[in-house]
Amino acid sequence: MNISEQAVIGVVGSGAMGAGIAQVAASHGHPVRLYDISPQATRQGIARIDSALAKRVAKGKMAETERQGILARIQGVGELSQLAECRVVIEAALEQLEVKQQLLAELANLCDPGTLLTTNTSSISITAIASAVPDPGRVAGFHFFNPAPVMKLVEVVSGLETSEQTASALCELAQRWGKTAVRCQAMPGFIVNRVARPFYAEAWRALEQQVAPPEVLDAALRESGGFPMGPLELTDLIGQDVNFAVTCSVFNGFWQDRRFLPSLHQQELVLGRRLGQKSGQGVYGWPRNPSALPFVAPEPAAASARQIRRSREGWFAGLEALVAPIAISDNVTNKAVIELDDDVVLMLSRGDSAGAEAQRLGRAVVLLDLAADYQRSPLLVAAAAPQNTPNQTAKALHLLQQWDKQVLLINDYPGMLVWRTVAMLVNEGLDALQKGVASEQDIDTALRLGVNYPMGPLAWGAVLGWRRVLDILERLQRHYGEERYRPCSLLRERSLMEQPYAQ
Ligand code: NAD
Repeated sequence: MNISEQAVIGVVGSGAMGAGIAQVAASHGHPVRLYDISPQATRQGIARIDSALAKRVAKGKMAETERQGILARIQGVGELSQLAECRVVIEAALEQLEVKQQLLAELANLCDPGTLLTTNTSSISITAIASAVPDPGRVAGFHFFNPAPVMKLVEVVSGLETSEQTASALCELAQRWGKTAVRCQAMPGFIVNRVARPFYAEAWRALEQQVAPPEVLDAALRESGGFPMGPLELTDLIGQDVNFAVTCSVFNGFWQDRRFLPSLHQQELVLGRRLGQKSGQGVYGWPRNPSALPFVAPEPAAASARQIRRSREGWFAGLEALVAPIAISDNVTNKAVIELDDDVVLMLSRGDSAGAEAQRLGRAVVLLDLAADYQRSPLLVAAAAPQNTPNQTAKALHLLQQWDKQVLLINDYPGMLVWRTVAMLVNEGLDALQKGVASEQDIDTALRLGVNYPMGPLAWGAVLGWRRVLDILERLQRHYGEERYRPCSLLRERSLMEQPYAQ
C-alpha cells in the first residue's frame, strides 16, 4: 500500500502536535488539510508553522522559496468534510476517547474506504478508538513526539484489528518523512511512555526520601548517568500536569500495578498548580537560576591512603581503566572492591546501602554509583556508610578526586540513584519485550530516539549483565518489601543463561 508524495494528508487539531505534524507532511511535498474545531486555533497553528520555518530561513537552514512552498501546501479548512479527499488523516485533537471516536467515525463516513485513519494519542487504547469505525483495520496509532518536526521517532501502534498493510504503510510513510518508525502493540504507554516511567519515578522517590536536593539528583543522572536531562528538570519542562497524567494513565492502564505508582510529591505540585516552566514554578523556579552544585571539596593530601589494593575482577570496562594503576591483590576477596589501608572499602553498589555493606564487611564503606561511561563522566556519585568516621570517608573520596572527577555525595540508601534507575529501565524494557509490545531492537530504538537515552535499556542490560541487574532489583525488593521492584520473569530467564558475574 504505497502512499505517494502527492497524497493529501489531513490533520485534525492544530495545537502543538497537529501543527508540527502538518509541517512535517508539507515539508515532504504533501498537500495538507489542517482542520481544528476552532478556526482561530487553525490560524494560530499555521502562524506557528510560519514562524518555525522563518527561523530556519533566518539561520540559513532553509531557502525562502522552500518556506513559501511548504506554507502554500498547507490549507487551513473550517469543516471536517473538507478532509474527504485525504489519503491519510492524523487526528491530534483532545486526549479524550469520545472525542477521538467521534472524529474517526465521522471521517470513516466522509473519506474513501482506503483512507488510513490514524491518531496521535499518547495514552488511549487504539482498539477502543478503532471500535467506533466500521472498518477498524485501517485505524492505527501514529504517535509523534514533541516537537514533531525535530523528534526522529514515530511509534506506529496496532490495535487488535489494525491490518498489517495499514501498519506497514504508516512505517514507510514515517520513514519517507525522515523519521524512524518503531512498531508496537497497543499496551498502555506504548513503548516510550511505559518503559521510561521509572526514570521519573526513581527520582521522585529519591526526592521524597531526601536522598539529595533536586539539582543533585538531576546532575547525577545527567552527568553520570549520561541522560540528556535530569528527570526532575525534564518534568518541569514537560509540565508537571502532563507528566503526572501520563504516569496515572499508565498506572491505571496496568490495573494499578504498584510498579507504576504515581508520586505523592508530584501530585502535590500539580494540585498547587506548580506546573513547571509554563507556570513559573515547579520543582524549580523558572526562569531557572543556575545554582552551584555541592561538589565534595577537594580532600587534603593528608586524607590519602598509604596502601591501596584492589580486586582483580568485577570492574566495568570504563572503570577498569580508572582503577588500572592500583595494585591488584589476591587478598582482596570481594570483587569490584578497592581497599584503602585495610580500613575502608570503596565498592560498586550491589543494591544494598553502604551502611548494610559496612555491617556485613565489618569495615568502613563508600559506595560508587553507576556511570554510563566512567572514563568520560565528569562526575561520580558516592554514598558513605553512616558508621564511617569522617576520615575514613575522606580517604575514599580523595581517591575518586585523584581520577580528576567531581564527586557528589548523596545520602546513603539502597541501590543508589543511577544504578536503581537503570536497573528499573532494563526491567521495564524486558517486561515490554516479553509481553510482545515490540521487538528488542524497536524498544531500544524508541528509548534512544524518543527520549534520547544514552543506550537502549536492553542493550544497557546486556552490557551491565542480567544477573547484576536482577541482583540489584532483588535486594531493593527485599529492602522495601514492595511490588515496585519486582523483577520480570524474562530478566530471571536471561540471568539463568548467563555466567555468574564477578561479585
Ligand atoms: P493542544 O491542546 O495543543 O491542541 C489540541 C487542539 O485540538 C486544539 O487546538 C483544539 O482546539 C483542537 N480540538 C479540540 N477538540 C477538537 C475537535 N473535536 N475537532 C478538532 N479539533 C479539536 O494538544 P496537543 O499537545 O497538540 O495534543 C494533541 C494530541 O496529541 C493529544 O491526543 C495528545 O495526547 C497527543 N500528544 C501530545 C504530545 C505533546 O507532547 N503535547 C505528544 C504526543 C502526543
